[in-house]
Amino acid sequence: MKHTELCKLILKTEIADGIFDFTIDAPKIAAEAQCGQFLHIDCGGAFLRRPISICDVYDGKVRFIFEVKGEGTKALAKYEVGDLIDVMGPLGHGFEIDGSVKNPIIIGGGIGVFPLYNLAKKLKNVDVFLGFRNKDRVVMEKEFEDVSDMVIVGTDDGSYGYSGYIAAAAEQYLSFHDCDMIYSCGPMPMLKAVKKLAEERGIRCQLSLEQRMGCGIGACLVCSCETTKSGSDKYARVCTNGPVFYSEEVTLND
Ligand SMILES: Cc1cc2nc3c(=O)[nH]c(=O)nc-3n(C[C@H](O)[C@H](O)[C@H](O)COP(=O)(O)OP(=O)(O)OC[C@H]3O[C@@H](n4cnc5c(N)ncnc54)[C@H](O)[C@@H]3O)c2cc1C
Repeated sequence: MKHTELCKLILKTEIADGIFDFTIDAPKIAAEAQCGQFLHIDCGGAFLRRPISICDVYDGKVRFIFEVKGEGTKALAKYEVGDLIDVMGPLGHGFEIDGSVKNPIIIGGGIGVFPLYNLAKKLKNVDVFLGFRNKDRVVMEKEFEDVSDMVIVGTDDGSYGYSGYIAAAAEQYLSFHDCDMIYSCGPMPMLKAVKKLAEERGIRCQLSLEQRMGCGIGACLVCSCETTKSGSDKYARVCTNGPVFYSEEVTLND
């Protein structure tokens, strides 16, 4: 069930240039939130709400991390500790955690790493691959290390960790390690690469699509994505059917 709460901002940190880590007091949302679900946030001003993933949940508090991209997230970044933020959530269909999975891995890229943190905490024995544009954009490495078996960080420009796209690092790992589930969130080119490497190896794979979104509750169709089905099921709504889909369910378009 979704709730709309006026939530007090209780922690605010700028963890990298233009990337803000917020924790809000949101007991109703926290009580129901599942890994991979998102919040729809009124950023103030005359904007539509903006979707931001739930990064962590504890003691009635919800943490989310966002990068300033345009006017909405710029306005959101201006909130200060003690301010009230109008938040709707938890929304969407999150990651499924299958108890029979023995060797899961996580592959995240850029702002896509945030919803994967809570998941890593829940999965416990998981190997994690995190990709960023460059050293200055690397965030949450230590936090993921604290909740995972192994963390590989890579940068596209080679300025930190593995040099190159993180899906390529995961591909090398999969040549030597068993894996029976991949969880991934990140930019579309990365998701396409992850889908391909999962399907080539017959590994089940859940992808979180962070599509541009309008209403967030299934009414406006702005976030439609193409599925592998036909007829009336040809398109799904990322906000309600997703954001998480099994890789074989969706056709990834730019
Ligand atoms: C389910 C979901 C979860 C998300 N979780 C997070 C999160 O945890 N942290 C985070 O930083 N961002 C997240 N996003 C992306 C975030 O919603 C957008 O960055 C934000 O809505 C941009 O709003 P704006 O008003 O600042 O920018 P706008 O003015 O709306 O757009 C500015 C620029 O950002 C681009 N943009 C807008 N939306 C997206 C998007 N969804 N993906 C990529 N580029 C976009 C636009 O094309 C434009 O170039 C998520 C999106 C979805 C759908």
